[in-house]
Amino acid sequence: MSGTLRKGSTCPTCKKAKLVPIVYGLPTSDVAEREGARQIVLGGCCVTGNDPELECLGCEARFMRDGDLVLIYER
Ligand SMILES: [Zn+2]
Repeated sequence: MSGTLRKGSTCPTCKKAKLVPIVYGLPTSDVAEREGARQIVLGGCCVTGNDPELECLGCEARFMRDGDLVLIYER
């Protein structure tokens, strides 16, 4: 598996859908707009410091970037 992740990367789990950044905290109107356009997903306002950074729009798997792409959560 490639460890390189670029913006717009395809999900390594389902290999179909796009990965988008997860945004935490209270959404601003700009963030809400981007969420509506499916450019990002909202992660809620609870930040643990160990939160995934990317979510697949297809299978909802969540990933962290730690040099490589690390699967955190798989639905
Ligand atoms: Zn996926």
